[in-house]
Amino acid sequence: MKRIGVLTSGGDSPGMNAAVRAVVRKAIFHEMEVFGIYHGYQGLINGNIKKLELGSVGDIIHRGGTMLHTARCPEFKTEEGQLKAIEQLNKLGIEGIVIIGGDGSYRGAKALTERGFPCIGVPGTIDNDIPGTDFTIGFDTALNTVIDAIDKIRDTATSHERTYVVEVMGRDAGDIALWAGLAGGAETILCPEYEYDIEDLIGKLNRGHDRGKKHSIIIVAEGVGSAVDISRKIEAKAGFETRVTVLGHVQRGGSPSANDRVLASRLGARAVELLLEGKGGRAVGIEQNQLVDYDIIEALAKPHTIDKKMYDLSAELSI
Ligand code: ADP
Repeated sequence: MKRIGVLTSGGDSPGMNAAVRAVVRKAIFHEMEVFGIYHGYQGLINGNIKKLELGSVGDIIHRGGTMLHTARCPEFKTEEGQLKAIEQLNKLGIEGIVIIGGDGSYRGAKALTERGFPCIGVPGTIDNDIPGTDFTIGFDTALNTVIDAIDKIRDTATSHERTYVVEVMGRDAGDIALWAGLAGGAETILCPEYEYDIEDLIGKLNRGHDRGKKHSIIIVAEGVGSAVDISRKIEAKAGFETRVTVLGHVQRGGSPSANDRVLASRLGARAVELLLEGKGGRAVGIEQNQLVDYDIIEALAKPHTIDKKMYDLSAELSI
């Protein structure tokens, strides 16, 4: 392949820029031409595509968000939208594209693959919910943002001797909640992957109080439900005051962590290597710190799993 494209799609995540940079520089290193497709699949349909040079991706490795912008594009779910997109690519002589995004963006890549257009998926989402990779780009940064917030909440929770319920992102996955809960020393972590019992939760809070604990922090993954509802249930059943913090979109922003920049650079470059080898319909990932690639259609059929041993450990450490 001599001419490739790159786009970012769906929810943005810190480190997407580092991945775009890696794609562009790696491709140019191998004497390929690279085109940036702006605003995700919408830009692909509309032909919002520009050639990128080495300098186009200068000074972005440390920036959150994505210089290519991102969008949600319902039209791309239709046959008409997909055919328009392929027409735009053919018009420019683009032979393959790298798609950086989450689960939905991978479904878009799958659709293009099924229409015979070579695509490589790069996992870019803070949710860490893409099967076939231990980590997604942006997860580490989001985790650090959450930890920073939990540490601050802990200070005020200790001073006021209060119970805090903190809601974190993750869509249907509990990874952010689990990792942040473990790293932040939370008393209880509620993940969508595991049922919780409100009586058990209150029992644990009460045992902590009896032991003279000054505060409690409960981390709730958004996939479990609203932290406000959970805090109301606790107040009604346990009879003590709680405070709620919904961290929201701060988790999506910020300068990517060193880990995310390294991961993005490795995955972005690997995606280009696959296109150079003439491969399409693949997704790249990292498993036990080794780069891997796998069939994107097969991967999408697999469920995302959470680390049960880590979940059990978090319960043991917050006894
Ligand atoms: P994320 O990639 O962060 O999971 P979304 O779920 O919003 O974000 O998906 C991003 C975009 O991917 C959608 O707006 C749409 O254009 C495209 N997409 C999602 N699902 C499909 C599908 N089944 N077929 C084709 N394109 C899809």
